[in-house]
Amino acid sequence: MEIYLDANATTPVLAQAREAALAAMGDLFGNPSSVHGSGLRARAILQRARAAALRVLGASQGRVLFTSGATEGIQTAVLSALMHLRDRPQAGLARPTILYGATEHKAVPEAIKHWTTVLCLPWDVVAIPVKANGQHDLAWLEQHLPSAGLVCTMAANNETGVVSDLEGLQALMAPSNALWLVDGVQALGKLDLQLARRRIDYAPFSGHKLYGPKGIGMLYVRDGAPFTPLIAGGGQESALRSGTENMAGIAALGAVLEALESGTVFASHATMARRRDQLASALNSAFPGVVFNAPLDKSLPTTLNFSVPGVSSRLLLDLFDAAGLRMSGGSACGASKAQPSYVLQAMGLPDWQTSSAVRLSFGAADDATLVDEACERLRACGEALRATCQSGQASPEPTAPGLFTRFVVDGACCYVVADAESQRCVVVDPLPQLTQPLVQWIQCRGLKLAAVLDTHHRSGLESSAAALRAAASECMSEDARLYTWNDSLGWPIDATLIALGRHWISRRNSPGAVNESSAYLVHAPDALVAVLAGETLTPGDQRTHEALQDLADAVGMEALLLPGHDPLNTLATTPSAALRAQEHRTQKDVECQPAQIRELLQAATPPVLIDVREDYETRVGAVAGLNAEAIALSALANALPRLRALPEATPVVFICRSGNRSAQAARALRRLGHQNTWSLAGGLAFWPAQTTQTAHAR
Ligand code: PLP
Repeated sequence: MEIYLDANATTPVLAQAREAALAAMGDLFGNPSSVHGSGLRARAILQRARAAALRVLGASQGRVLFTSGATEGIQTAVLSALMHLRDRPQAGLARPTILYGATEHKAVPEAIKHWTTVLCLPWDVVAIPVKANGQHDLAWLEQHLPSAGLVCTMAANNETGVVSDLEGLQALMAPSNALWLVDGVQALGKLDLQLARRRIDYAPFSGHKLYGPKGIGMLYVRDGAPFTPLIAGGGQESALRSGTENMAGIAALGAVLEALESGTVFASHATMARRRDQLASALNSAFPGVVFNAPLDKSLPTTLNFSVPGVSSRLLLDLFDAAGLRMSGGSACGASKAQPSYVLQAMGLPDWQTSSAVRLSFGAADDATLVDEACERLRACGEALRATCQSGQASPEPTAPGLFTRFVVDGACCYVVADAESQRCVVVDPLPQLTQPLVQWIQCRGLKLAAVLDTHHRSGLESSAAALRAAASECMSEDARLYTWNDSLGWPIDATLIALGRHWISRRNSPGAVNESSAYLVHAPDALVAVLAGETLTPGDQRTHEALQDLADAVGMEALLLPGHDPLNTLATTPSAALRAQEHRTQKDVECQPAQIRELLQAATPPVLIDVREDYETRVGAVAGLNAEAIALSALANALPRLRALPEATPVVFICRSGNRSAQAARALRRLGHQNTWSLAGGLAFWPAQTTQTAHAR
């Protein structure tokens, strides 16, 4: 069962809201502008929803119009304010400044940029700085307010949950002539906005953030606030927003607002705060050293934004997803890009925190059992990180390393070659970002570092071999300590091989795209296991081709090559495949739909199923209904010789979280010759049908 903890991105639709929407699409299907009975019944829905909105928002004076969502509400408010400022310049404000909070949702600064451009208004648009606690710097605002025409300040932040000091803002805004937009999206249902009591001119809201459907929202407009319709047409919504109303959405939103008023569906502020504290303490015990990126006493009672030292948000999100905990890094809009959070940057947090933040946000309709279960799973996630040496802490029983472990940073690979018996290892092509994780990985497993090698000097990338040797000085093996005269790639002078217990590494000069370039050959007693091929696989250049030919002469056309520079996620190849032009480059080539996999499972020759998620993921999230062998992508090189030796009739199916890593694995195995290789399309999210645990949403 999955536990959805990403309520600031969106929420499921409340059962009452679904029923209301269905009714509005069924018997109550009429057009609210029609004057006959069907129209009148539809209009009643509209009126009832609007009345509930005015009550819930504490907006006894003012208007609420239904929009497609908060982004539309923001456009309408910004357009209205700019038109007013343009057409009726107040005294001394021929060029008003437009101010917006530095941590606003992108919809606000983007709307300002868009509409000032469309309206040809060359006005200064300036971000209001926030303090370290995420709240607006009111002293700065006070200083800049006299020249401001519009001030935009969200009520609560979507990434951090930081609640703005609306009282402090109100005190500044009350005597000011500037128009005031407050984005209320994340506050609805969690804070009492009392709009009538405040001087707020515009407040947009979004249905899908509070158990309504997507595509419906509302905009509060204070009585007397300037207004310019964004959409003109048939005159609906008193001509403030034309177009036939989204009646299903409005009915659903009305049902949510009434549920909010009833006080029986959503948890109280105190209850939510207690649950948030329970989750925070589970995080503290699961990940000692965890840092909360916003002060809890200044945040929404449903949001925790945190970073774990030494653990990337990508890794944490994969781990949580495997445990069935759905969270996001930073904001949902930025979730697919691994970029630092501009919100945390605006708060002045250090780089490691801004780029490794995770957001946990639950909903006002979630119940105590969901929170209890989430806490349990968070603790299991902490255990999994410790056991797989991914956290900075020692592990009583660390997992034994395979011969090869691959680390990837932006298309560049680093390998650790480790011999479990002798406990000796060699790092090939270290990267600066990996210095600490590698030391942790080696130390936690009690390994001795016998050498740190580069295959070549990567253009634009600094080798961190010296930094790694220094940082890992305590784990250097005795013989490595004696190699003071290493050459510039780290190979011990005069040595012909580096011994790793049963295994050993030899070196072959292999000038490819760069002159000084080595391939490292990893041998077992009876065979060459694989070649760490470094730069020699850079496609498309004659020297690369020659280097590959040369390497092939030495190691054979079918030797397993592991590229060090791997922007295309080749993962593994052979000289013969690398010299051939044909490639399986797209994910689609190897995809297999869940139904086809079910068929394969019934066939006479059943498939070999391999789960390539990392160890920490498979520990917390075994796949129900699939008897898959767990071989992490980072350790797949160890299994490739066995898999490529399978009979062609035996299908191999790789699976992973999203279908991306499994496709890489499948393409690699096909390249190595086993054509009957597949990847579960879409990943485990589609296997089996997942259900989400959320209270009141069934
Ligand atoms: N403002 C905030 C604070 C938000 O969190 C969001 C959605 O993420 C929006 C505006 C945009 O809302 P909508 O999706 O309804 O356009």
